[in-house]
Amino acid sequence: MALVVQKFGGTSVADAAKIKAAAGKAITRHAAGDKVVVVVSAMGHQTDILVDLAKQISDRPSAREMDMLLSTGEQVSVALFAMAIQSLGHKAVSLTGAQIGIRTDSTHTKARIKSISTDHVRALLDDGAIVIAAGFQGIDQHGNITTLGRGGSDTTAVALAAVLGADVCEIYTDVDGVYTTDPRVLPAARRLSSISYDEMLELASLGAGVMHSRSIEFAKKFGVRVMVRSSFKDAPGTMILSADQATPRPASGVALARDEARITLEAVPDQPGSSHAVFSRLAAAGIAVDMIVQNVGHEGRADISFTVPADDLAEALEVSGAVAAVLGATRVSHDPDLAKVSVVGVGMARAEGVAGRMFTALAREGINVRMITTSEIKISVLVDRASGPAAVQAVHRAFGLETDAVDGDADGTASRTVKSSPLDVVRRLEGMEDLAIEDCVLDSSQALITFTDLPDTPGVAADVFAEVGAAGLFVDMIVQSHPRDGRAELSFTVPAGDHDRAIAVAARIAAARGARVVEVPHVAKLSITGVGIRSHAGVADRLFKPLADEGINIDLVSTSEVRLNVVVAAEHGEKSLRVLRTAFGL
Ligand code: ASP
Ligand code: MG
Repeated sequence: MALVVQKFGGTSVADAAKIKAAAGKAITRHAAGDKVVVVVSAMGHQTDILVDLAKQISDRPSAREMDMLLSTGEQVSVALFAMAIQSLGHKAVSLTGAQIGIRTDSTHTKARIKSISTDHVRALLDDGAIVIAAGFQGIDQHGNITTLGRGGSDTTAVALAAVLGADVCEIYTDVDGVYTTDPRVLPAARRLSSISYDEMLELASLGAGVMHSRSIEFAKKFGVRVMVRSSFKDAPGTMILSADQATPRPASGVALARDEARITLEAVPDQPGSSHAVFSRLAAAGIAVDMIVQNVGHEGRADISFTVPADDLAEALEVSGAVAAVLGATRVSHDPDLAKVSVVGVGMARAEGVAGRMFTALAREGINVRMITTSEIKISVLVDRASGPAAVQAVHRAFGLETDAVDGDADGTASRTVKSSPLDVVRRLEGMEDLAIEDCVLDSSQALITFTDLPDTPGVAADVFAEVGAAGLFVDMIVQSHPRDGRAELSFTVPAGDHDRAIAVAARIAAARGARVVEVPHVAKLSITGVGIRSHAGVADRLFKPLADEGINIDLVSTSEVRLNVVVAAEHGEKSLRVLRTAFGL
């Protein structure tokens, strides 16, 4: 007998007929002898309708009342869902978040789960009932109703699966799985039969849009196997599982985030504490920063660029202006109309020439690359918003995602990845949505090469990495800063042993383009990996503060959903590792 959590999204419960059909799926499972917990979203666009209503009443409705209002959407759907099951002659009980005992903090409209009690749900399951749980909502310590942020029902479902030790969490939605890219952007997209948590995390908040990324963080943290499948077709779907169970490919998917805005603090004094000053203030304002690029700079000054959701631009600019004045930065520039295109693959780290392939594909389409950051399994570039879809198409094709066999290997019936003991889960639940930093490692084996004054024209990055690749150099981290005055700065790291060769190649490339090369034969690269890195506004802050306190200057930064890399001078490597490990309690 298995325990299954089934989650039905808004489109799957949009009307009475759909609710009845979804109820049928729960009943089939239950009749087969499984215990079934169903998590339901609000019907159709109900949440949007409620948001719109609130706006008609007030320009600035209070967050507490928004939660009171929005939680009603799910209360309607759970009741109807339970009635549908009952009318077919089965036992069902609906519960609100508060009735289940989903405790959250008091951050209205984007609350975080603190704990979930399972007693009530278990008792009902033992009694033979199908439990219908309202997604997206909880209750804070003062008894206020809270919501988990738009799309939060996924998080409810995975969190319930984790605490109940469910065998699988099935996410029923209007798509039949996770695709190599958004099929609405590119019809040639293909369904993946399996994907790893990390790939999904790198894709999810980048705009793949299939699942709420916090729900994947939960799934990874607690080893919950998640099956995304269609509520309308009887199709196989996509299993999300740990990396060692998924197929390693150089590229699994290409994601488009359309609404990025960039801010650059120009000519910030390059001294310990500058980054901390910027990102601690942004964190305090609750703004989640996405890409961060700090260039090597010259004459003791560096540019710090970062992206934020376009919606947060005004507030982020306000914060940036204030901190620029304090730091003595010469100017704050911004661009509201950008998109981020990312290619993600767990097999990328072992494959050569992946970056070159991506940049070449973009160059062929005449698409200019504004900023670049990389992680072990992802390369992200910032492009003009209007070029986003064309960029996705070019990159998707370059990695053969339209034709390669990306299908046919999932085993939907295997048992859960990690069986934690119930006690262990309860203990870890105490800090359920806390940031989980898994590791911090020091890599002192690399050299850093930086081009300054590279002309900012389409194809420069492609040319550079074509030549670097042709020379057989294995590139690890790549960072391209936001171009200023038509010139960009591009840095990359290579094994220190290849330093001389890299310099020779770099000098040739620079000479041909009127650029200059700055090289550091040995640098220290610190990588912090974990869960929640992207969705916790303060991570960058927690990283930069201990380094600033020790007077350690940061030379280069790059970020992704699950990883933060910083490069510091080689002589500061060991010390940086020590202070960071202490700061993160490792
Ligand atoms: N009903 C909420 C929303 O539309 C939660 C969800 O659907 O996951 O955002
Ligand atoms: Mg939804």
